[in-house]
Amino acid sequence: MTETPTSTSQPALRDRTILVTGGAGFVGSHLAESLVRDNDVRILDDLSTGERGNVPADATLIEGDVRDPKTVEEAMTDVDTVFHEAALVSVSESVEHPLRSHAVTGSGTLVVLDQARRADARVVLASSAAVYGHPDSVPVVEAEHKRPTSPYGIDKLTADQYARRFSDLYGLETVTLRYFNVYGPRQNPEYSAVVRTFLDQANRGADITVEGDGTQTRDFVHVDDVVQANCRAATTDRTGEAFNVGTGESVTIRDLAETVRSVTDSSSDIVHTDPRPGDIDHSRADVTKARTALGYEPNVSLTDGLAELADGTAI
Ligand code: NAD
Repeated sequence: MTETPTSTSQPALRDRTILVTGGAGFVGSHLAESLVRDNDVRILDDLSTGERGNVPADATLIEGDVRDPKTVEEAMTDVDTVFHEAALVSVSESVEHPLRSHAVTGSGTLVVLDQARRADARVVLASSAAVYGHPDSVPVVEAEHKRPTSPYGIDKLTADQYARRFSDLYGLETVTLRYFNVYGPRQNPEYSAVVRTFLDQANRGADITVEGDGTQTRDFVHVDDVVQANCRAATTDRTGEAFNVGTGESVTIRDLAETVRSVTDSSSDIVHTDPRPGDIDHSRADVTKARTALGYEPNVSLTDGLAELADGTAI
């Protein structure tokens, strides 16, 4: 199954039997939503941070844990494509509970890959920019040193490496996507999703709290573009590889706060608090590889994405 990476529209996936792990969460539910019309979509989620209400009406929810091989085996019956989104996503929780982080994000991925090998299903893995830690320079290319700074980053790197080695060792079709800072509707408020936090603060008229001096930069990618990257990964012949998924552009956190204040017409003050220990200074994806190999093209500008969020208050 190959797709010539020429158009910027999303490749249509049709008539597949698809498993989305973590499909009741933020990214997974958007993926499921985009696929459910033309495919048989199953979601495996333990609802630890995800919500039943995020599951599209025509998708089947299997309430269960990716750490359990039997559950994953059953969920994968007749499946041809797996989007593996389930993970312990909070960095701070991973610092507090490194064993749980390893079990869910590291071992859970190994279970998914092992069952996919038996079912001969392609796996598109949600990896993270956290695998790079403090990059030597930006924009970050895929070959950058990997020096994760948290159990979350270490466990994502473990998952990322397993996915790639399963391709060499067993011929399993895997594609690894390293998401940068994803934002959009239904983002989980529990962990450090700065866009969501700033929008909440601006809408309440509360102070917008920038950690540190606000000169740190991030690459914010809209969830629709992450869905696009996943659909391209499901059809590419470039398996066994990893691709950055961002916009290739970055913004300072101070500018983000100002844009949020402007799109919400808020009179909130922007205040600065202590920097977060261990926070990285700069993060920006080099998306050349995803562009040339997958035909990925980020379509949603940060201003448009924020304006849409502020408008719909669909956060
Ligand atoms: P999320 O917390 O909204 O979604 C994760 C989902 O996984 C939740 O529905 C949760 O209930 C489920 N889950 C957790 N543990 C599970 C388990 N043991 N068994 C079954 N289901 C389980 O997070 P998200 O932001 O949608 O993240 C999706 C993926 O993208 C994750 O793998 C995350 O590490 C990765 N990622 C996200 C971002 C981002 O900015 N949101 C950035 C980089 C990578």
